[in-house]
Amino acid sequence: QAKESGRHAARFFDPEMHAAVIKRVALEKDLRTGLQQSQLFLLYQAQVNNHGHIVGAEALVRWQHPQHGMVSPAEFIPLAEDSGLILPLGQWVLQAACKQLACWAQEPMYAHLTLAVNVSGRQLRQPDFVQQVLKTLENTGAPAKQLKLELTESLLLDNPQDAITKMVALKAHGVGFSLDDFGTGYSSLAYLRRLPLSQLKIDSSFVRDLVSEPRAVAIVRTIVTLADSLGLQVIAEGVETQEQRDSLARNGCHAYQGYLFSRPGTVEELYLCAPDTSAHIM
Ligand code: C2E
Ligand code: MG
Ligand code: MG
Ligand code: MG
Repeated sequence: QAKESGRHAARFFDPEMHAAVIKRVALEKDLRTGLQQSQLFLLYQAQVNNHGHIVGAEALVRWQHPQHGMVSPAEFIPLAEDSGLILPLGQWVLQAACKQLACWAQEPMYAHLTLAVNVSGRQLRQPDFVQQVLKTLENTGAPAKQLKLELTESLLLDNPQDAITKMVALKAHGVGFSLDDFGTGYSSLAYLRRLPLSQLKIDSSFVRDLVSEPRAVAIVRTIVTLADSLGLQVIAEGVETQEQRDSLARNGCHAYQGYLFSRPGTVEELYLCAPDTSAHIM
């Protein structure tokens, strides 16, 4: 086989690339172990409405690697997707998130909170995805109405009809759907109309440029108008400054998520950033 590859052989034996492959294989093996040894955990980032009240959170997975310390999901999620580990990993995230939702449901003070969970394409494509989610809701006792699944545009374009069928089935049980990183992918408006979404999530790249770039404002306004006319809620992600928050509010945004309100943190830290709920744990 090496003989056949001819001029490609040099590229194949590129030492830098070789090192990267070795590192990747090692990290993949570590992730498999880490998943079994409870090295993964969830952090929660607050989602805040126009009154400054916390209405929910997004669950963000973290990996505490025994040697490398904290590994970013930006690094290990793509790895998990390529290797197929995203299936057990995604199931673990869903289970952990639903357990948290079930706890909140027991407390009148937190029962209104929603929890958003990121879902990868490979997860959604599993033939029994709907049954997996319903079973997890059932065995944790989490209320379906408080669960929101975050999908991306590219993921949905893969096989729209399959995605829509599964979304419709879960929506019938009360599960909500948010379109993550909205505006960065390719979405046809006709297609957007067919998706049973509950929310659009304005990508942080538009929020970042909001104060300096009139064009970013125009895009935000267009997304909000689109959402309003489709009856969807709009949340902005990556809100870091009061100026950004005010500009978003002036342009009709409904909810906000970002470092201005809270960094992703433990569930106790989430309560502290909710002025109307923090008294409870004092
Ligand atoms: P995402 O779903 O778009 O999540 C938002 C990311 O922006 C998070 O990065 C969050 O920590 C970060 N962020 C929040 N507020 C701010 C802000 O004000 N400024 C800035 N600069 N960043 C902010 P994180 O936690 O590193 O996650 C990165 C991505 O990894 C996520 O993007 C999501 O696509 C993926 N991910 C995270 N957890 C999961 C998971 O459980 N399952 C799957 N499939 N993907 C996940
Ligand atoms: Mg997300
Ligand atoms: Mg996002
Ligand atoms: Mg994003």
